[in-house]
Amino acid sequence: MNDFTLHLTTKIVFGRDAESKIGEEAARYGKKVLLHYGGGSIKRSGLYDSVKDSLAKSGLEVFELAGVKPNPRLSLVREGIELCRKEGIDLILAVGGGSVIDSAKAIGIGVPAKCDVWDFYLGKACPEKMMPVGVVLTIPAAGSECSNGSVITNEDGDYKRAVDNQIMRPSFAIMNPERTYTLPPYQTACGITDMMAHIMERYFTNVDHVDLTDRLCEATLRTIINNAPIVLRDPENYDARAEIMWSGTIAHNGLLDTGRIGDWGSHNIEHEISGIYDVAHGAGLAVVFPAWMKYVYHHDVARFVQFAVRVFDVDLAFGRPEEIAEEGIRRLEQFFTSIGMPITLPQLGVDDSRLGEMADKALVGCEYQGHFVPLYRDDVYNILKIAMG
Ligand code: NAP
Ligand code: FE
Repeated sequence: MNDFTLHLTTKIVFGRDAESKIGEEAARYGKKVLLHYGGGSIKRSGLYDSVKDSLAKSGLEVFELAGVKPNPRLSLVREGIELCRKEGIDLILAVGGGSVIDSAKAIGIGVPAKCDVWDFYLGKACPEKMMPVGVVLTIPAAGSECSNGSVITNEDGDYKRAVDNQIMRPSFAIMNPERTYTLPPYQTACGITDMMAHIMERYFTNVDHVDLTDRLCEATLRTIINNAPIVLRDPENYDARAEIMWSGTIAHNGLLDTGRIGDWGSHNIEHEISGIYDVAHGAGLAVVFPAWMKYVYHHDVARFVQFAVRVFDVDLAFGRPEEIAEEGIRRLEQFFTSIGMPITLPQLGVDDSRLGEMADKALVGCEYQGHFVPLYRDDVYNILKIAMG
């Protein structure tokens, strides 16, 4: 096991009554709140009114910046930075999913910055400060409500890039599973896929003696796999929605990679797909992850056998280790298909005309992608080829 530092700084308020705490939590950071949200789901669900009521009761002045798109754009981040500076905003309140939260974090690091905010995403500068960001989560998926990361798309060249930094954890996260009842099945499934991918990125590691975190990863994956069909069949099942929501946070708050080094190749390859084609991140991962697995499993067959046996109950008597490993990958694909996810690029609506461009872009600014097996340009291209099905 590797040495590690874990400093989880996000206060989590979880449950049916969580929303009543919004105003009280927000008021700790000052008087002026920027309410940041997406394309309108919070208005249709009535959450917008509850948030505004709660903020008003706490005597807060509210400014609004709506219109965050899935795969959040740099242009709106720049608008948010200007607005915060002009109005002297004290807290950015992100009401929505990963896209809104990531946009809020980008604004939050952009406001105090002396450099251009995109420099952080290019790795040219390191953010030193973030304005307070609070979250009201509406979709369990990205884990951004507690994570240290933000992913933004620069429309100028369709580059989707991430920045990770300890200072980028939100100050608080309000999580009411009832607020996820209105999610369309496709978005529910995309979220489930993304949180599973966050765990699997960590699971496939070269670090030895990581038994505790292996088993925490396996337990979280199994919880998601068990509850996914329930929330898809019965969207208002509180307990199943709660299990999924909490799993999404646990998947990506840092606990599961303590003492180990994750891979992240699949995520970075997926960012090239959603950066160009504007597909849902989770759906892109359902395509990339199994393709990545097929390409790399020979590197550590035993780890893939452990995954197949402990997560998907493949019998050790199923066959040779390679066959067990392949069966685990097949069951993962079956699971994705069962929740309505694509498992090939054509199913995602992506043809093979820009595979080379995506492989090139994945390697811009770095020598290789991934850690479990370093992936060079041709490896990324080959994985995308496998993903063609
Ligand atoms: P999202 O892009 O925030 O939201 C997806 C869609 O779901 C939006 O159209 C949104 O509509 C809708 N929606 C959200 N909540 C809803 C609800 N309760 N009822 C009905 N519709 C609802 O989804 P996400 O998967 O959470 O975020 C994806 C982004 O996060 C990607 O850009 C991905 O790269 C990034 N990501 C970030 C991290 C990180 O640690 N920072 C990790 C992984 C992924 P409205 O816009 O109308 O609200
Ligand atoms: Fe993700």
